[in-house]
Amino acid sequence: MTIHPLGLDPGLCLIGDAWCAADSGDRLPLYNPSDGSVLCEIAAGGAADVDAAVAAAQAAMAGAWGRTTAMERGRILHRMHRLVLDHADELAQLESLDVGKPLKQGHADVVGLARYLEFYAGAADKLHGDTIPYQNGFTVYTLREPHGVAGIIVPWNYPMQIIGRAAGAALAAGNAVVLKPAEEASLTALAFAEIGRRAGLPAGALNLVPGRGPEAGAALARHRGVHHMSFTGSVRVGRLIQQYAAENIVPVTLELGGKSPQIVFGDADLGAALPVLISAGLQNAGQTCSASSRILVHQSRYDEVVEAMAERYRALRVGPASDNPDVGPVVSNRQKGIVEDFLGQGGDLTRAAEADIAADAPNGGAYVRPTLFACDKPDHVLARDEIFGPVQVAIPFSDDEEALAIANGTDYGLVAGCWTMNGPRQMRMAKEIRAGQVYINNYGAGGGIEIPFGGVGLSGHGREKGFEALHGFTRVKAVSNFHG
Ligand code: ADP
Repeated sequence: MTIHPLGLDPGLCLIGDAWCAADSGDRLPLYNPSDGSVLCEIAAGGAADVDAAVAAAQAAMAGAWGRTTAMERGRILHRMHRLVLDHADELAQLESLDVGKPLKQGHADVVGLARYLEFYAGAADKLHGDTIPYQNGFTVYTLREPHGVAGIIVPWNYPMQIIGRAAGAALAAGNAVVLKPAEEASLTALAFAEIGRRAGLPAGALNLVPGRGPEAGAALARHRGVHHMSFTGSVRVGRLIQQYAAENIVPVTLELGGKSPQIVFGDADLGAALPVLISAGLQNAGQTCSASSRILVHQSRYDEVVEAMAERYRALRVGPASDNPDVGPVVSNRQKGIVEDFLGQGGDLTRAAEADIAADAPNGGAYVRPTLFACDKPDHVLARDEIFGPVQVAIPFSDDEEALAIANGTDYGLVAGCWTMNGPRQMRMAKEIRAGQVYINNYGAGGGIEIPFGGVGLSGHGREKGFEALHGFTRVKAVSNFHG
């Protein structure tokens, strides 16, 4: 199979306005998670490529991109939005092939990317400072300025959506971007960079350096010419990014995943809740930062909920991405090993249900059986650690107090959902749950492009999405003008 995202050789970096091989000439293979075959080779970028990309971004800030008005930035992003829609089928297929996600999820991700570009296109010229009342004779105001060069490192689970939310906001705010996609899934990042070029981004406004994390990623995060770092990925690497940023005293936005609960109270509308309890956990084979991997259920309805979820688990279709299954493979055989290792630690829990893998699923594919555990130990490793696979635990609780204690009982705090019709309880939960987002009688808001997103604790800090992201990609300058 030959793969040419938007007609490109997949083994290249974009530096300034030129697609070029990595300085070292090295490439690395990209695998198809559905069958383990090699899809193509991508550039194995390194420090020299990052140096060149940062230099190109700095030149863009000092030149054409730095002079581009907010209105014009919005127009370029609008053209990018249009081009994403024009190439929707190809982008969905690339993402599905590369990540192993069902084709319909690939299409949903294209819609997400397009929507980020649309939102930030419209927002670009609506971001402004304030005037501040001060003493007579003074005019005091604030300017919102881009940081300069924004380094963005994205993971493999939702490349398009995460690039859309980070690069879309960074560009709208006027930063020049150096983007490092994940070595497991880089194809749509290449397509995105080409779309930026075709939409009229000046040279150097958006640069792309694919490659391994400890090489291209670390070189970017440590680079002295980078003024803001944005990272989505594991806690382990998030810690490194924060350390690197500390060396250069630059701000960082970290989105590091979670162990997000949905709480089913005794008065929940189960008809509405059930499909969401499962889809929020198993979407993208559970490889979602905001995956709802813990289902907390009031003891009065625990057996009913676990049995209803188990029935749905047993009906799940698990197979190759191109068959549009309910659950595709995980991203790699390495990731499969990590998830299976967790499953092995659940020996003391009841497996309420396991889904079967399609008999004709290719042998080399990274398939994991989606598994629901009944778990009466809220501090069990499976109820505490992020697994990043199609695994959920159902935990009983006896009252609101206990539900809150369990919900807040992990080191993470990204998202939470509550299913209850009781108004005061809704208000209390929204206030007392420790998370960046709380959903009442829904979960996830289909990606929630407009809704600020980010974590507390090990889930990270800084906010993405919506206008909050634009604030994160700008810094405030205060001006005091004395005119007597
Ligand atoms: P996962 O464990 O889910 O693969 P990672 O946190 O390892 O998530 O990877 C997320 C992103 O971080 C990827 O783009 C990866 O290449 C990058 N990365 C991995 N290690 C480093 C590192 N030492 N420095 C900078 N980036 C890294």
